[in-house]
Amino acid sequence: MTSTSFRTDVAIIGAGPVGLFAIFECGMLGMASHVIDVLDVAGGQCTALYPEKPIYDIPGFPQILGGELIDRLQTQAALFHPVYHLGQQVIELKRLPTDRWFLGTSAGVGIDAAVVILAAGVGSFGPNRPPLAHIQHFEQQPAGSGVQYLVRRRDDYRDRRVVIAGGGDSAVDWAVSLAEIAASVAVVHRRDKFRAAPDSVQKLRRLAAAGTIELVVPFQLAGLEGEGKQLTGVVVRDLDGQTRTLAADVLLPFFGLSQDLGPIARWGLNLYRNHVAIDPSTCSAGSAGVFAIGDIASYPGKLKLILTGFAEAATAAHAAHPVVHPGEALHFEYSTTKGVPAAS
Ligand code: FAD
Repeated sequence: MTSTSFRTDVAIIGAGPVGLFAIFECGMLGMASHVIDVLDVAGGQCTALYPEKPIYDIPGFPQILGGELIDRLQTQAALFHPVYHLGQQVIELKRLPTDRWFLGTSAGVGIDAAVVILAAGVGSFGPNRPPLAHIQHFEQQPAGSGVQYLVRRRDDYRDRRVVIAGGGDSAVDWAVSLAEIAASVAVVHRRDKFRAAPDSVQKLRRLAAAGTIELVVPFQLAGLEGEGKQLTGVVVRDLDGQTRTLAADVLLPFFGLSQDLGPIARWGLNLYRNHVAIDPSTCSAGSAGVFAIGDIASYPGKLKLILTGFAEAATAAHAAHPVVHPGEALHFEYSTTKGVPAAS
């Protein structure tokens, strides 16, 4: 049931970094945007998963924290007065007889848009949880204790006994970072090989050689020990079935994200392995007026990087312009020539 209705040029599904930059690119071409996100705050993976982690490959910023990048993108987007609908999922997308699009959200909001830009990342995302008995007893604890799937504030881990499980970038980067402030850091991984940036793996090995981090390899998580809801130990098992218990206040399992496209899978788009296949020259998702950009968009050679998504936002905005403003000539202009509206 739809309780509130809006009409706009562009509806952007997903307020991650790429969706936020799409607001700006559309605004530069005279198109107004409404942005919908199932999370309560804008920023997608940057805000939800690594607000305090430095990103090193945003052009012009040798280093910028995930949260800071989002603040800057929102400031840049604010020039074009986007309307945000946060804390609600787009559950319905259908073509109207007018050739425009209708989006319905879980909060009963209805949006009538000329163009839809899907910037939905991996869909509604959540962590892959390890299959440990009674794990739910230790979840939903204050940050820095129990089982946590992301580090929102690094300082919550000061003087804590931290066990990290996993062998990817998050596991390695957080082990290196938290080793500076935690009482102890142990990294549990099923093999003695890490799938992370070589430089980070080198740092991890240096800290392990110095005794600052304990590498518990090849081991797997086997259980949790605690008093009430208070985690006290993480049980691990090696390939021979031998177990040992690591003293712990907090377990950080970093086993990647579960990808669930959710309602997006039912909208008749060109799906390819949980992604939306697009034509990279326009970012068109196959239906007239629907574009996909950022992590959700797939084509041969696609790099899942924020900077790739930024370029796709510009491409989609240019391809959307004739749909929103039919018959209106669009002369390509640089931002330096065109200028932007004064901040209000
Ligand atoms: P997302 O950030 O995933 O945002 C998509 C948004 O869409 C989400 O907020 C989601 O809630 C919303 N959504 C989905 N479905 C719906 C729906 N139906 N209705 C409403 N809302 C919906 N990239 C780099 O370039 N450099 C790095 O150094 C880097 N480091 C990373 C470190 C970590 C730990 C992780 C996890 C990722 C890293 N990445 C990095 C990847 C980067 O974060 C992603 O490429 C980027 O977030 C993709 O942006 P996006 O806007 O496409 O999607």
